[in-house]
Amino acid sequence: MAGDGVRTTCPYCGVGCGVIATPASDGGWRVTGDPEHPANFGRLCSKGTALAETIDLDGRLLSPRIGGRDADWEEALDLVAARFGAAIAQHGPDSVAFYVSGQLLTEDYYVANKLMKGFIGSANIDTNSRLCMASSVAGHRRAFGADTVPGSYADLELADLVILVGSNLAWCHPVLYQRLAAAKAARPTMRIVVIDPRRTMTADLADLFLPILPDGDVVLFLGLLAHLDAAGRVDRDWCAAHVGGMQDALAAAHAVIAHELPVLTGLSADLIERFYALVAATDKTVTVYSQGVNQSASGTDKVNAIINCHLLTGRIGRPGMGPFSVTGQPNAMGGRETGGLANMLAAHMNLEDEGHRALVRKFWRAPALPTQPGLKAVDLFRAVGEGRIKALWIMATNPVDSLPDADAVRDAIRACPFVVVSDILPDTDTTKLAHVLLPALGWGEKDGTVTNSERRISRQRAFLPAPGQARPDWWALAEVAKRLGHGDAFAYDGPADILAEFAALSGRGNDGARDFDISALAGIDGADFDALQPFQWPWPEGTERRETRFFADGRFYTPDRKARAVAVTLPDLGAFATDRLILNTGRVRDHWHTMTRTGRSATLSAHLAEPFAEIHPEDALARGIAPADLVELSSAQGRIVVRALLSSRQRCGSVFVPMHWSEAYASAGRVDVLVPPLTDPVSGQPASKRSAVELRRHPAALYGFALLRRKPTTFSADYWALARTHGGWRVELAWDRMPDSPDLLAQALLGEGESLSYRDAASGQMRFARFDGAALAGLLYLSPQPVELSRVWAAGLLRAEMDMPQARLAVLAGRADAGRPDDGPVLCACNAVGANVIHAAIDAGAMDVDAIGAATRAGTTCGSCRAEIRGLLHGRKLQAAE
Ligand code: SF4
Repeated sequence: MAGDGVRTTCPYCGVGCGVIATPASDGGWRVTGDPEHPANFGRLCSKGTALAETIDLDGRLLSPRIGGRDADWEEALDLVAARFGAAIAQHGPDSVAFYVSGQLLTEDYYVANKLMKGFIGSANIDTNSRLCMASSVAGHRRAFGADTVPGSYADLELADLVILVGSNLAWCHPVLYQRLAAAKAARPTMRIVVIDPRRTMTADLADLFLPILPDGDVVLFLGLLAHLDAAGRVDRDWCAAHVGGMQDALAAAHAVIAHELPVLTGLSADLIERFYALVAATDKTVTVYSQGVNQSASGTDKVNAIINCHLLTGRIGRPGMGPFSVTGQPNAMGGRETGGLANMLAAHMNLEDEGHRALVRKFWRAPALPTQPGLKAVDLFRAVGEGRIKALWIMATNPVDSLPDADAVRDAIRACPFVVVSDILPDTDTTKLAHVLLPALGWGEKDGTVTNSERRISRQRAFLPAPGQARPDWWALAEVAKRLGHGDAFAYDGPADILAEFAALSGRGNDGARDFDISALAGIDGADFDALQPFQWPWPEGTERRETRFFADGRFYTPDRKARAVAVTLPDLGAFATDRLILNTGRVRDHWHTMTRTGRSATLSAHLAEPFAEIHPEDALARGIAPADLVELSSAQGRIVVRALLSSRQRCGSVFVPMHWSEAYASAGRVDVLVPPLTDPVSGQPASKRSAVELRRHPAALYGFALLRRKPTTFSADYWALARTHGGWRVELAWDRMPDSPDLLAQALLGEGESLSYRDAASGQMRFARFDGAALAGLLYLSPQPVELSRVWAAGLLRAEMDMPQARLAVLAGRADAGRPDDGPVLCACNAVGANVIHAAIDAGAMDVDAIGAATRAGTTCGSCRAEIRGLLHGRKLQAAE
C-alpha cells in the first residue's frame, strides 16, 4: 500500500510503469505514477494517466456463457473439459490449442503452459507476443544461447549514443522516451539516431534521422559491421575470448558492396557515412529496437545484424552499451519466461533439449512432454482453418483483428468445432465467435506479476473486487486441468503458490547454467507476495536482490559459453508492382491494441478518433486524394476504408495505417485484413510492416458528422467510425449513394424531440440539431464534401448550456462564438489543450516546449505530447525562416 492507495503496474506497454491507484472523492479511482518504481519514477504517459477511465463495468462479461446464454462456471468448465478431453482422446493432443496473450499475468501464463505442454502433451500453445517480439527472442537465442535482454533502462541514460531502429519510442514506449529525452536535455552531448521509414515523433529528438527503405535495416547493419571492421573498431581480444563465428559474419558483411548501400537502404551515401562514423567513434552505444525490426520476414536476421555490431566492438554487458529490445506488451517478457511460446519450455528452457525436457517433466511430474515445437501463431490459425484443431482456447486477445490475413482468421475460428474465449468483454470481434465465453478478471481486479522490457518483475495488485462471476485465468485453467484428471498438479491456493513453484523450477539444476533464475522466491508465501517489490531477474536463491547487467563477464549461454556472431546475408525483398504502395502498420499514441480498454476513455479518444491512412502528399496527388477524403486500401487479402491524412512525415511510396480499429469502432478499419500471412522463417513472426497495397480515393456521395449523447447501436451509413467523447459519442459517416431522405436519416440518428435544422441548397450542406431541455441531445452535419468542422469545439457542445437562442444557432452555424473559442485538435490529452491554443502561445512568445507548457499546461502532466509540441514549434520556426 502507498498511503490509502494500492501500488500496481500499468497494463499497457512493455515499459512496465508502476502506478498507484487511490480512491477518489467521487467514488471512482485516481491513478498516478509510482515515484518509487524504478521503471518510471513517478512518470506516466497519457494511457497510464487515463487508466481510471477504463475500469467501469459498462459492457463487461460477468458470467460464463454457452452458446450465447448465461451459464454458471460448473457447467461451462465441465463442457470445456469434456470437449477438450474428447478431442484429445479422438484425435490426439495436437488436435487442441491455446492462443494466449502478453496481457496475461505470469502466473496465468505458467499454468496455461504447464497444462498444455506438461499434461495435455502438446506444444500447441502460442501467444500474441509472437506478433510483437518473437524475432528478438530468436535473435537472442541464436547469439546468446538464451533469450536474454542484457541491459537496463538506465543504459539508455548512460549511453553517449542511442540508436533507435524501427522504434517509435515517443508513442509506443512514452515513458522510456521521456527518460531518454530528459537524459539528453541534461547531457546535450548525447547523440540520438533514429532509423525509420517514417519521420515519427521520435525522430524529432534525433541528431540524425535515417529515413530508411522498409526492411533496409539488415543491409544497413551489415554495412556497419564491415565499416567497424575496416575502421579498426574491433575489440579483438574480447572477440577472440568470447565470440564464435565472427569471421563468417564479417565475410558476409564485407560481401555487401559499399556503393550498393544507398540503393538498398534508400539513404544517401553521406547520411550512411555520418551514421557509421558516429557509431565507430562512440564506445558507449545502445541500440534500441522494436516492432519495426521484429515484424519482418527478415526480423531475426535484423536482430542478429544489430547484435553482431555490439559483439564485434565488445559493446555489451557494460554500462551504457548493448543491444536492447523493447517489448510491446506489459507481460511479453513473462510469457517468454514461462514458456508461452510454442517453441520454448518454462523458465527459459529449450523444448528441443532432452536434458531440459527431462528436468521439467520430473519437476512437474508430468506424464509426457512434447519433443517438437508446437504451432506458431500464424500456422496455428492456418491449422484451425484446415480443420486440424478441434478445440481452441483463446485468452485475453483478439486475433480476429490482430493477426495477419484477419478475415481468414475469422473464418477459421468460425469454422472451428469448439472455441473457448476468456475475456472481460462479450462483444469483441473474437468473443462474438466463441462457443463458450469465460469471464476473466480485468486490470485492477487481478493479482500476480509481470515482467517489463528490462527484466524487472513487478506486482500487479487488485484494488477492485472481482465483479460478477469473473475469475482469474489461472483458476479457470486449473479447474479444467482437474476435470481432465490432473487435479494434484494444479491444486494452487493462489498466485503466490504458482509463483513459488515457477521460481523453484527456475532454480532447479541451474547453478548459473541458465539465465532465468528467480529461485530466491521459491518459498514465497502470501504475505511476501503481497509485499514483493519490483526486482530485476536473475535473483538466485541465497543471493541478495540487485540490479544486473548480463554478459559483463563475457560468458554466454551456449555450450562453449561464447556468443555467436551470425553470418547474416542480404534478404530477398522481392519487387513490388509500381502501382502498389508499401503498407506499414503500427500504434498511435493514445490507443492500445484493439481499443477494448482505451476506446472506453473519452480523453484518449480525443487525440485520433478515426482510423486513417498516413499518405505522402505526392502519392495522394497522383491518386487525386485530398486531405480528409476517404480512401480505400486493398490487397490480395482484403480491403479497408479509412480517412486520408496527408503528411510529408510519411515516406513517398509507403502508407501507414494504425492497427487499433476493430468492428466495434469502425465499419472497415481492420488493417490486418490487408496483411498477408508472411512470416520470418526463424521466428515465425508475421511481417506486418511491408505489405503491397493499392490505394485509391473512395468516392462518397454524402459525408456526415454526428455528435450523440447516447451510443448508437446501428448505422445506416456505408462508412462509420465511432469514438467516445466527454458526455457522449462522435461519429464520422459517409454514404456511397445519396440517401433518399436526409430528414429521416437525421430522425433515426438523433431521435424525436425539439429540433432545429438548416439547409443550403447551393452547397448541399444540411445540419440538424436536437435538444433535450437546456442541453444538446445530438447534432448531425451532412455535406457532399468531407464535413469541415472543429470536432473538438463540437464535442464541447455536449457539456454546454443551450438555453439561449444564439447558443442553439451557433450549433447550426458550426463555428465557435466569441464566448467559446475553438481550441483546435487535441494535442495534450491530459489537459485537453488543442493545437490552436499552442499556436496562440507561440504567437505570444513561447518559444520552447517548457514555455508553451507554462503558458498552456500542454505537456506538463504525462509529457507524451511533448514530441508533437516540439514538432509544431519546429514547423513554425521553419515557416518563419522561409
Ligand atoms: Fe503504461 Fe505509458 Fe508506462 Fe507504457 S509508458 S507502461 S503505457 S504508463
